[in-house]
Amino acid sequence: LESKEEFSHKTLAMDVMRPRRSDPPLSVITQDGMSVEEVESLIAETSYSGFPVVVSPESQRLVGFVQRRDLVISIENARQRQEGVVSASRIFFTEYTPPQPPNSPPPLKLRGIMDLSPFTVTDHTAMDIVVDIFRKLGLRQCLVTHNGRLLGIITKKDILKHMAQMANRDPDSILFN
Ligand code: ADP
Repeated sequence: LESKEEFSHKTLAMDVMRPRRSDPPLSVITQDGMSVEEVESLIAETSYSGFPVVVSPESQRLVGFVQRRDLVISIENARQRQEGVVSASRIFFTEYTPPQPPNSPPPLKLRGIMDLSPFTVTDHTAMDIVVDIFRKLGLRQCLVTHNGRLLGIITKKDILKHMAQMANRDPDSILFN
């Protein structure tokens, strides 16, 4: 019993975050250069409430977080109202938009809809601390990093599921009383 209790206290952010080892990788948006079409397919193919924005897929350096609904609305608006924004237009979350190659459609600047400082914890943060932060800050999601690289995401629902699992396993756990 004791070792079980010890285990539950030592659950770390990496044990609760998604994706799991067997899951497809985290769905992220690159801060510059993705096309409207690419982002639209990402939205169509997933149902996540939001997407981390990274410097590049290789670096996995976190830039911010964008809510799905804000992306949907902004792209819809731009397609309807913004002169010349089409499927091939590039989307930028950067402060400055580089000059576009000649004959390319106008870019879509979306820095304004991005949360520039999404809450993050490292993969080794104890889950009791993460739960506490969620409660105190009223978070909906939190990103997980390792050495500054984006590794995963924990949503409020992930935490609730985790808490339910822990409660089943260890009813006396002080974490979830
Ligand atoms: P909820 O957890 O409330 O259902 P989401 O629909 O955003 O919220 O997330 C569903 C699941 O997918 C959660 O387990 C979450 O950790 C994970 N998830 C959320 N966003 C992403 C993403 N961009 N890429 C991969 N997995 C994600």
